[in-house]
Amino acid sequence: MSKSKRIALIAHDNMKPKLIEWCLENREALSHHFLCGTGTTAKLVQEATGLPVQGYRSGPLGGDLQIGAKITEGEIDIVIFLSDPLTAQSHDPDVKALLRIAQVCNIPIANTRATADYIIRSDLFACEETP
Ligand code: PGA
Repeated sequence: MSKSKRIALIAHDNMKPKLIEWCLENREALSHHFLCGTGTTAKLVQEATGLPVQGYRSGPLGGDLQIGAKITEGEIDIVIFLSDPLTAQSHDPDVKALLRIAQVCNIPIANTRATADYIIRSDLFACEETP
């Protein structure tokens, strides 16, 4: 893992305001890294923060799977995925696939703001070695 991390950002609709708020609060730290995300999330984070965020397809249209594929190719270091625990998602199988492949590849993945805070404030965030 290099010092500059490749961070994937994903938020289900009800969680997008929370993710945007988190990105704004952590804008300076995030600005040193490559950001990408599912279509709508990427667009909204880019608009809110002014940081470049490479967008893939929207989650329900395969974006989660694209990010999962990037993980298998070793192209993603961290995933911040604020999923909605209270709303059923049409693309739940894709969400499960993403979570599974992140686990298989030992990728840090935050499903809550609290976990995202722990990741971004960790000493390991600024370090080159893979935990
Ligand atoms: P979106 O996808 O960023 O395109 O809304 C997120 C998701 O629902 O997985």
